[in-house]
Amino acid sequence: MKCFYHQEVDAAGLCKSCGRGLCRECIAEVGLSCSCRNRCEADVATLNDLVERGRTAYQKTSATYFQSGWFILLLGIPFLVLGVAGVSSGTGGEWGYFLLTMGVLFMGWGVSHFISARRLRQK
Ligand SMILES: [Zn+2]
Ligand SMILES: [Zn+2]
Repeated sequence: MKCFYHQEVDAAGLCKSCGRGLCRECIAEVGLSCSCRNRCEADVATLNDLVERGRTAYQKTSATYFQSGWFILLLGIPFLVLGVAGVSSGTGGEWGYFLLTMGVLFMGWGVSHFISARRLRQK
C-alpha cells in the first residue's frame, strides 16, 4: 500500500478516521492512533474520546450491577435464614418453604447481577 498523498512512497500506517494509507511524513499521532496530518487529527481525537467514554460507561454499569448484586444477596439472607429455621423446626409450615423459596430466588437474582457485571467488564 502506498501513501494516499505521495503515490511513490510506501504507507507506514492508516488513518483511523478516513482509512487512507499514510507515509511517515503524513502521519500525525493522536493518542495511540494514526491520523492524516493537518486533516483528520480532530476526527481521530473525537473517535478516541468516544471509545474511551464508552469504556468507562461499561465499567460504571458493571460497578452498579456489582453493588445491586450484593444488595439483593443481603436482602435474601433474612429470607433464607428464616426459611431454613422455619422448615427445620417444623413450626413455620408452609411459610418456611415460602421464605426459603424467596431466599433462593433472591440469591439467584443477585448472582445473575454478578454475571452481568462480569460480562460487562470483559467488553
Ligand atoms: Zn484521515
Ligand atoms: Zn505521504
